[in-house]
Amino acid sequence: MTTRLIHNAKIMLKDAVQYGGVVIGNGRIVQVFVEADKPTGFAAHDTLDLHQNFLAPGMIDIHIHGSAGVDVQNATQEDLAKLAEFLLHEGVTGYLATFVPTAEQNYQQAIAEIETYIAHQEESQHLGARILGIHFEGPFVSHEKCGALQRQHFRTYDGNPRSLEIFTQRKNLNLPYARTMTLAPEIAGGLALIAELTRHNVRSFIGHTIATPEILDQAVSAGAHHITHFPNALEALHHRQPGAVAWGLLNPEVTLDCIADFHHVHPLMLRLMYRNKTAERMALISDAILASGLGDGEFTVWGDRIAVKDGLTALVDGAAKGTIAGSVISMREALKNLAGLGIPLNEAVCMASLIPARAAGIAYEYGSIAVGKRADLMAFDEAFKVHWAMVNGAIRRY
Ligand SMILES: [Zn+2]
Repeated sequence: MTTRLIHNAKIMLKDAVQYGGVVIGNGRIVQVFVEADKPTGFAAHDTLDLHQNFLAPGMIDIHIHGSAGVDVQNATQEDLAKLAEFLLHEGVTGYLATFVPTAEQNYQQAIAEIETYIAHQEESQHLGARILGIHFEGPFVSHEKCGALQRQHFRTYDGNPRSLEIFTQRKNLNLPYARTMTLAPEIAGGLALIAELTRHNVRSFIGHTIATPEILDQAVSAGAHHITHFPNALEALHHRQPGAVAWGLLNPEVTLDCIADFHHVHPLMLRLMYRNKTAERMALISDAILASGLGDGEFTVWGDRIAVKDGLTALVDGAAKGTIAGSVISMREALKNLAGLGIPLNEAVCMASLIPARAAGIAYEYGSIAVGKRADLMAFDEAFKVHWAMVNGAIRRY
């Protein structure tokens, strides 16, 4: 068994920052200790001194369409490896490849590529962020809140589970590729859809919706407990029609995620969300598109021209011209932004790791520094520079 000692670190735990370290063995965390109780007997080459930098769980991005020129829905194995490498450098050790609505045949091709990648990533020599499954953003969403999603591919649910096979089938039972689906509970068959997805162990996320609080309550009863990129693609808060925003802020049974780039959500709104939900119920996502990491310019994304300027995306043509179209932020930048709002760093880290992992149903393996969990970690400093990232105990230094 290969073991490694990491010490002299400020460890980002859920409820505290602890000065100490961890012992890694066989790709898992086998011990978490305070520095005064540091285990002995480790050879120098198996010891990693963090010089009091931060040690955090690797970030988990449960909503990302791509980055570094790669779109997960139109990617080769090589592209996915390139994306994995880019994300790892940003401190992300796992992500859900997020699919926008498309034609059946495009879904099938893209799912097949992701499945192939997942099946081989564990034994791959190539170190990068792992794909932990697929997040289907739509196609069962509202025409009233399409954002940059292409409405010609939107669907309603006819109640026949066979029409969901593409989203629920498993080629390999050990590799559940479909983890989550963002849907609008008010569409025809929406509540039955949530019940059916829950039966298949696919988490329903509420989003791209105009549902009333009454329908949202029913959605919770059917098994939906999370809201996608709050409060984007929801009805804006109105004092006589409070809708999903007030409902989401107040409902303790519901977690939410958000794009903390200060373009999608104003910093004041982020503080309001944090005040209401606390770090226990608020997750960070990137919602990044392929242009992330490439700087300003014009890009073709999902068949549309999208312009990126100063970190803001916009559709270039058509009736929806100017509509914000995904983000170009990274999880690392989102983390930095939240910490900049005065949110304690360990809580911000938790919002980028444990809370999204819980929402996706993978917290039993990922998302925090705890004995028994995968050794998917990252080390960073006060300037939010990632010094190294670790997947399954294997380290990549930067
Ligand atoms: Zn998205």
